[in-house]
Amino acid sequence: MPTQRLHPDTIEEVRQRADIYDVVSEYVVLRKRGKDFVGLCPFHNEKTPSFTVSQTKQMYYCFGCQAGGNAIKFLMELEKTSFSEVVLDLARRYQVPVKTLEFEQTQELQRQLSLREQLYEVLALVRQFYQHALKQPQGEKALNYLLSDRQLSEFTIQQFGLGYAPAGWETLYRYLVDNKRYPAQLLEQAGLIKPRKSGGGYYDVFRDRLMIPIHDIMGRVIGFGGRTLGDDQPKYLNSPETELFNKGKTLFALDKAKTGISQMDQAVVVEGYFDAIALHAAGINNVVASLGTALSLEQIKLVLRYTESKELLLNFDADKAGVNATEKAIGEIADLAYKGEVQLRILNLPIGKDADEFLKNEGSSEYQILKSTNSRLSALKKYRHRNINALSANERKELLESAPRWLDWQIQQIIKDKDLKQATDFQQVSQQFVKILKKIVNKDTRNYYVSHCAEILSLGETKLTLLRVENLLTQISPTTSYNKPTPAYVNKRQSVTSPQQTTSSEGSLLEVAEGLLLQIYLHCPEYREFIFDSLEERDLQFSLSHHRFLWQQILEVSDNPEYDLLSTVQDRCLEFPEEIGLVSHLFHLNEKTQTDMLRIPQLIQAAIASMEWVMREKRYRHFRELWEQTDPQTEAKQAEYYYQAFYNEKLRLQELERQRQFSITELI
Ligand SMILES: [Zn+2]
Repeated sequence: MPTQRLHPDTIEEVRQRADIYDVVSEYVVLRKRGKDFVGLCPFHNEKTPSFTVSQTKQMYYCFGCQAGGNAIKFLMELEKTSFSEVVLDLARRYQVPVKTLEFEQTQELQRQLSLREQLYEVLALVRQFYQHALKQPQGEKALNYLLSDRQLSEFTIQQFGLGYAPAGWETLYRYLVDNKRYPAQLLEQAGLIKPRKSGGGYYDVFRDRLMIPIHDIMGRVIGFGGRTLGDDQPKYLNSPETELFNKGKTLFALDKAKTGISQMDQAVVVEGYFDAIALHAAGINNVVASLGTALSLEQIKLVLRYTESKELLLNFDADKAGVNATEKAIGEIADLAYKGEVQLRILNLPIGKDADEFLKNEGSSEYQILKSTNSRLSALKKYRHRNINALSANERKELLESAPRWLDWQIQQIIKDKDLKQATDFQQVSQQFVKILKKIVNKDTRNYYVSHCAEILSLGETKLTLLRVENLLTQISPTTSYNKPTPAYVNKRQSVTSPQQTTSSEGSLLEVAEGLLLQIYLHCPEYREFIFDSLEERDLQFSLSHHRFLWQQILEVSDNPEYDLLSTVQDRCLEFPEEIGLVSHLFHLNEKTQTDMLRIPQLIQAAIASMEWVMREKRYRHFRELWEQTDPQTEAKQAEYYYQAFYNEKLRLQELERQRQFSITELI
């Protein structure tokens, strides 16, 4: 519909009535700051709010992406709709009469508006009809199911508008068309009746089903879910897509959960209507349900509008079906999660079942999975004797907070039922690890998970961890293995490896190698001189700042032979609360590390070789880059020099590779 056809009076009145705060706050959590409001910008990704709303100016402006305008512009940008559509929508919401410049067009507009309005109206009426039927003798079975099987209170049944669709093929049809004189066409557009295939006439879509109304974000009924009370298939039947109901843009119970989500700063997504209803009934009101489909980007954005931390928790059943459903639900959001734009957590725990029963069987594989996340386990253990629905809001919150992050969950799924001592299982697991690790964008996160996976693969044998880290690193960043440079360098230019690509993963290698060296230094006085000399000889420094810090403390104490090095350094470190967290594990030896210590010389060699390798690798790339930037025709000498330099580095790297391999095979 052309914009110019809308009467200027209508546009002006909408402008006056549509308050910027009202409009924006439906989509963005706004906090008062001074006389304005601030929130997280819906137009770009940010962690600290730079999106400002001024009620006095009736404007919004983002300092991050420079988006700005009035309420109409906001809706146009956000909903990707046209000016006239936004004005019409606002006109309806604020009950502004719509005028156009031509009479026929006014009629057309009114007709379009009234279709949506009539749909809302008839759906609201149908909800009442179903609610009423639930309290009649015919609805007894459905009501019993809610009260006994689902243990829901009258209040909850009322709150969610639950009802019953009577048996019979035309009950609703007769009530609405014959009694209430609604046109059959409207009911068909609302997804409530369907035309018979032959013989004319219509039949009800929902028959003898427990009815769950689905509301839009403003609490208006837009569709229904119907659960069978017998053996009919499907078990759950949803309204078809209509003018109002779009499955991919709707989340069940979001209208009731939006306040809770913003208060808890976390959204919980469950699988079924009744999972969501049960949790709301138990006072956990930040819960929505997917409508049985994979979560779409639009659904995720819809729900994340209400959280600042962008934390999303998927809580599905722990059985095989639940795990599959979790994987299916993750669908389109996997990319966002790998990029760190959604903080995804996974909790596979039965809802409405006995948590005690679930946890009692400690030998079960599910329990083993739980075991791998300590904090989660302790929270689960604490509540193991109680049904999950009986927990208080705070207890539930603790349980939800202890849910493992999505990456941890994936790792758990991979190692579940696998025996890493078996070669085939081991191969499978490490290949799947590599697949995941490759996708992690943030380099710190990636480093963390590389060492985490390496630890799992080395089955607690510290001496193997270093080898595993390297194996993983070579597999996830192909640039660490390079081809022998071609001697015909003058004419051939090989593809350049970016210097930044490998440095991101070197961190995890250094974390292990340097840590090992410091640990040996602290605990084994007889090797101190050897370590010290080896570092000097090869001109090596500790690269990671927390290791440099610890080395500094060691050097300062070492001057005085009277001191016990370990305890003195430990005492000194206590004065640096920030650094000590990163090095405190080096002050202790567990049983495993103690046995590893029997092969110390090899460990030292491997660690030193790793440190030198990282340093040489940097130099190799540096010289190689210089060589590639030099024109061999005009600067032949320079090119020759750089070539020699990077070639020498490469030879040394190969030597170090051999040293490390040798030391490590000695260890095994
Ligand atoms: Zn912005």
